[in-house]
Amino acid sequence: MQPSSSTSAAPLRVVIVGGGTAGWMCAAGLARLLPDKDYALTLIESDEIGTVGVGEATLPHIREFNAMLGLDEAEFMAATQGSFKLGIEFVGWDKPGGRYVHPFGTFGERWGGLDFQHHWLRARASGKPVGEWPEYSFAAAMCREGVFDMPDPDPRSIRSTFSYAYHFDAGLYARYLRGWATQRGVRRIEGKIVEVSRSTETGLVESVSLESGARIEGDLFIDCSGFRSLLLGQNMGVAWQDWSEWLPCDRAMAVPCASVAGITPFTRSTAQTGGWTWRIPLQHRIGNGYVFASAFCSEDRARETLLGAIDGTPLAEPRVLRFQAGRRERGWEGNVVAVGLSSGFLEPLESTSIFLIQAAVIDLAKLMPRPGGAIDPRLTAEFNRLFAIHYDRTRDFLVLHYTANARHGEPLWDHVRNMALPDSLAHKIDLFRSSGRAPDYKLGLFSRDSWLAVLMGQGIMPQAWDRQADRAPLDQVVGRLADLRERIASNAAALPAHADFLAGYCPAG
Ligand code: FAD
Repeated sequence: MQPSSSTSAAPLRVVIVGGGTAGWMCAAGLARLLPDKDYALTLIESDEIGTVGVGEATLPHIREFNAMLGLDEAEFMAATQGSFKLGIEFVGWDKPGGRYVHPFGTFGERWGGLDFQHHWLRARASGKPVGEWPEYSFAAAMCREGVFDMPDPDPRSIRSTFSYAYHFDAGLYARYLRGWATQRGVRRIEGKIVEVSRSTETGLVESVSLESGARIEGDLFIDCSGFRSLLLGQNMGVAWQDWSEWLPCDRAMAVPCASVAGITPFTRSTAQTGGWTWRIPLQHRIGNGYVFASAFCSEDRARETLLGAIDGTPLAEPRVLRFQAGRRERGWEGNVVAVGLSSGFLEPLESTSIFLIQAAVIDLAKLMPRPGGAIDPRLTAEFNRLFAIHYDRTRDFLVLHYTANARHGEPLWDHVRNMALPDSLAHKIDLFRSSGRAPDYKLGLFSRDSWLAVLMGQGIMPQAWDRQADRAPLDQVVGRLADLRERIASNAAALPAHADFLAGYCPAG
C-alpha cells in the first residue's frame, strides 16, 4: 500500500530534551518544516541546569536556516547583538608571526571549466608576477579593509563572489527562536528530568519524568541535553568515538570583554603555546576564549595567556569548560536522535557546531517517521550515514590546521605535526600536494575554496597542476590574473566600514 500524504493516526509525539541552541533550532526547524497536524512538538528545558553559554560564531549556512524560518535579518541581528562575519583570520597557525584568512567565498574565477588554482599555480611556476594566493579572494580583501556590504546579486560582479555569516550572542539566539517556536505551537515545559523510562520489551524510550513528578510520554525523543547526552549516551548507551589522538585540546576558558572601536567583520583565531585563543566581536562586547590541551598547558597558564590576549576590560571571571573531541558512533538509536553537543563535539576552530545542529535538523526533518507504526530502520540508517559524513569531514578539516604547522620547538605543536593522521585526511593532503586538487563536496562541510584557503594558508604548496591549464596562452592568463587582483582590491577598498554598515543596518536598540 502506498503511504498517503495525510494520515488519520494520532500525531507523532516528539519530545525535545534541552533548550540550548540545539533544542530551539530543532523545535523551530521542525515546527516550520513538518505538517502541524501530524506532529506534536514538546520541548523540556531546565532553568536550574542552564545551557553551555558559549557558541558565538557561525558559518554562512545559518542564513539558509534563518531564511527557511522566514526571520527578518536586521531584526534577528538586533535581537542577538549580531555582527557580520566574512571569515576567520588565523594568526600564527602556519608559523609564529604568520597570518592568513579562511574567507567565505571563492578564490578567483573558473576559467575554461577548470578550478582557478590550476591557472594560478601554472602561471606562478612560470616565474611571472602573479601575486599571492589570498589576493584572489574578495572576502579576504574585505577582511583586510574591515569593510562590509551585501553581496551583489549580479553573478558577473566581483562583489558577488563572497558570502557571509554572523557573530551573535547564542543565548539571545536561542531565546529568539524560543519565541518564534512557541508562537507556532511548540509546547515548552520547564523542569529537570530525573528519570528516563524505557520499554523492557523494545528498549525504546517511553517517557521522561521531571523533578516535579510530571511524566512526559513520547514516540520520538530528540536529545539536545548538551554534553550530558542524557538519552543517547547515558540511556541508550551509544558508544563514544574518542578523537583526542588528533584533536588533543580538552579545555576552554571563556571571558567576554568590552568592545573596542572598529568592530571587525571576522573571527580571529590566534595560535598559542598550549592551543589557540578566539576573538569574536559582537555589537555589545567581544567574546574571547582559549581552547587548550591540559596535557600541555595548565589552567593558570591559560588564564594568564587569555587575559593577556584580550582587547578590552574583562566583563566577567574566566570560566572553564571541559570536553573531549569525538562523536557518538550513531546519532540515532531506536527512538532517540541526538542533536548538538549530545551527539559529539569538535572544538570551535571553524565554528562548525551550529552548522552540525542545522544539518541534523534538516536531515531529521527529511527522514522524520510518519505517525503510527514502528520507525523504519532505513530512515535511521540514512540519518546515521549522513551524521558520520558531517562529523568525519569536519574533523579532517580541523586536524589539517594543526598538522601542517611550522611552530617548531613547542611541545603541543611538535606533537600534532608528527601525529599519524586519519587516512582520509592523509589522502587529501597528498593529493593536493602532488596535483593541486582539493576536495569538492556537494554535501556539508567544507567547500573546495575553504580547503584551498587552509591548505595554502598552512603553507602546503602543490608541486603540480591540472595539465589542462597549459592549453591557455600564458601571457593571457597572467594578464587576466592581474586584472582580477586589481578588481578585487579596488572594489573592496570602495565599500563602507563594517561598523558603519552595521550601525545603519540594525541600529543598536
Ligand atoms: P546546551 O547549551 O548545553 O543545552 C543543553 C540543554 O539541555 C539545556 O537547556 C539544559 O537545561 C538541558 N538539560 C540538560 N539536562 C537536562 C535535564 N536533566 N532536564 C532538563 N533539561 C536538561 N559552536 C559554534 O557553532 N560556534 C562557536 O563559536 C562555538 N564556540 C564554542 C566554544 C566552546 C568553548 C564550546 C564548549 C562550544 C562552542 N560551540 C560553538 C558549540 C555550541 O556552544 C553548541 O553547539 C551549542 O551551544 C549547542 O549546545 P546544546 O544546545 O547542544 O547544549
